[in-house]
Amino acid sequence: MNEPQRRKIPVGISSCLLGEEVRHDGGHKHKRYLTEVLSKFFEFRSLCPELEAGLGVPRPAIHLRRYDSGLRLITTNGDADHTEAMEGWIQAVLPALSGLRGFILKAKSPSCGMERIRIHNQEGEITRRDGRGLFAQALMDAYPLLPVEEEGRLNDNHLRENFIERVFVYDDWCRMMEQGLTASGLLSFHTRHKFQLLAHCQKTYRELGPMLANLRAEPLADLAERYISSFMQAMNRQISRGDHANAMQHLMGFLRNTMSDADRKMLREQIDLYQQGQVPLVVPMTLLRMAQRREPVAYLKQQDYLTPYPDELGLRNHV
Ligand code: SF4
Repeated sequence: MNEPQRRKIPVGISSCLLGEEVRHDGGHKHKRYLTEVLSKFFEFRSLCPELEAGLGVPRPAIHLRRYDSGLRLITTNGDADHTEAMEGWIQAVLPALSGLRGFILKAKSPSCGMERIRIHNQEGEITRRDGRGLFAQALMDAYPLLPVEEEGRLNDNHLRENFIERVFVYDDWCRMMEQGLTASGLLSFHTRHKFQLLAHCQKTYRELGPMLANLRAEPLADLAERYISSFMQAMNRQISRGDHANAMQHLMGFLRNTMSDADRKMLREQIDLYQQGQVPLVVPMTLLRMAQRREPVAYLKQQDYLTPYPDELGLRNHV
């Protein structure tokens, strides 16, 4: 994250997570981490699919039932079918979400839930637990690159760090595209995020460099689409301690002429300790950043891997 001036990143969110009383029972599911921490960096665009589709508050609870024609959103007592209302609202709202850089969904909801949603048969009996809410499904189909996560999973330090990193990277990509796609813009994006890519997936790292080696082989827009699709898929992959250690050792190679023997030894030791799970990522990463700050290497200055998101989030203290 190399920009000196920070702006808030537009991120969608299920309204009940912000404390809005929009649930079927008139309650909410406020998550303080979202309103007290992430809201400093994200501009939340709140949506409640069920309320906005006209189901009202309070409203009878609903669930998903599978019919031959597909999934339907039915009241749990079987009295009413809200599928058309929900689908109509979804089609109307989706185009307006193109500016979002991420979405945080409420878990376990037949509208917002991202995974493990119960599917019932026509009689209302549970037959599966691997469904997805109607809105969540439509959102992810319409915007396959968009980082999407459920609120409960954000309690996991690694999933949280991964989601936030993806939001910042995706925001960088979207802003680059908004300025008009150029070959130099694409190459510069790749350079900025090279080490992040290396840490997330060595295979994709090895594929994407050569993909950009011949920018005239196909129309730039097609190439960019293929590139970012593979890139964001790789970013989904959790980084292991070994992956980070490998990326940091790689990065350390660029600092070999600017670091003293003692500093290099210390950094190596801390990378080893990190790999063994003895210290968090922030420890070796801070040594790398200090070395880079003392005697900047131009190439590393461009690397978002050293600071992929604001330090205040403290994410690297916990992974
Ligand atoms: S889970 Fe989604 S549909 Fe349900 S109350 Fe929250 S925002 Fe509304």
